[in-house]
Amino acid sequence: MKPLGPIPPGFTALDGELAIAGRKASDLVAEAGSTPLFVYSRDLIARRVADLRAAMPSRLALHYAVKANPFGPVLAAMDGLVDGFDIASGGELTMVTSAGIDPKRVSFAGPGKRDAELEAAIAAGVTLNLESEGEAARALAIAERLGITPRLAIRVNPDFDLKGSGMKMGGGAKPFGVDAERVPALARQIIASGAEWRGFHIFAGSQALGAEAIAETQGQTLALATRLAQESGVALPHCNLGGGLGIPYFPGDEPVDLALVGARLGEGFAALPPELAETQFCIELGRYLVGEAGVYLTRIVDRKVSHGETYLVTDGGLHHQLAASGNFGTVVRRNYPVAIASRFSAEPEEEASVVGCLCTPLDRLADKGHFPRAEAGDLVAVFCAGAYGASASPANFLGQGPAREMLV
Ligand SMILES: *Cc1c(COP(=O)(O)O)cnc(C)c1O
Repeated sequence: MKPLGPIPPGFTALDGELAIAGRKASDLVAEAGSTPLFVYSRDLIARRVADLRAAMPSRLALHYAVKANPFGPVLAAMDGLVDGFDIASGGELTMVTSAGIDPKRVSFAGPGKRDAELEAAIAAGVTLNLESEGEAARALAIAERLGITPRLAIRVNPDFDLKGSGMKMGGGAKPFGVDAERVPALARQIIASGAEWRGFHIFAGSQALGAEAIAETQGQTLALATRLAQESGVALPHCNLGGGLGIPYFPGDEPVDLALVGARLGEGFAALPPELAETQFCIELGRYLVGEAGVYLTRIVDRKVSHGETYLVTDGGLHHQLAASGNFGTVVRRNYPVAIASRFSAEPEEEASVVGCLCTPLDRLADKGHFPRAEAGDLVAVFCAGAYGASASPANFLGQGPAREMLV
């Protein structure tokens, strides 16, 4: 028997079944037409944003990192909840504008922005977080050709990383951002060009649960922004402090202590020198806002036993849930929170592995979990599926195609 990850708060049972936003899993599947299906809860997203705002200093703006979940209805719902959006490609620019989001509220980070993407972003009024001196030169040339004043910020490659983070995005050589010591010169050059100077973007890592580590990194980020602004000799209109807040996926994981992070950030703001008195600060979060608000529902197609081990074979799999299968940046495979959605109130009584329908041993959604007895036709729920699920899995592998998605 292997433990399962913790089921996030906010889910209930109705007639013995899992309910999402007060609606039974089987009803949601019937409405969508079939499994596999991602269901995202508008209410859980809104509650998460409200909790975050309550804990953080009011000076801190909140941005949504679109790549975590670019589903149109989720973006439209976010429009009324957050202060800005961060995109990572021209494709995501199309997604946010299609959702009715004002491009002036959008910033664009990411290495390898093509000229066509830079042009579309500049024309729309998106802020570019420049990843290199070369990208800055291309952006300035494109803006001059278009006759538009570009809105430019520099993504800084910080000289520290976020301790305990699942993905390190700073500290040493990186394809992201401009090394801190070269930033002041580039900032002066951008301002001299007549561009609209938008400040710094400093992103040190993601998926951290330790509040102390997050607070320490935010403190280092404020110190770095201060030092670079002073060395640049120009005011700092805006500073994106990155993200980093993670969610509990695995057995033993605990949620981030938001109160601690908020209090320490408030102290950091209070200690800033006068030059940064007018600076607008934001954080950009993806998984923290939407990850726990999403559930992936898949149906058991076959129940079989091999050498004494029970397999519940579903119509879903790693092609929609690469991360839950343990194949998206994890070293040791551990179980996500998984449940038999159609028997949510039943007591566990057997050991079983939930697998997907792909012909690869990698396609495992739960390894030797403790579940109520389930049969073909039952629904399985994989929790923490709201971020990096549909958008970060190889949907076309083995000709399977994408899952359905709905916001309720
Ligand atoms: C991916 C990414 C984020 C979001 O990370 P989460 O872990 O989903 O919060 C934010 N900013 C940048 C620059 C990113 O690349």
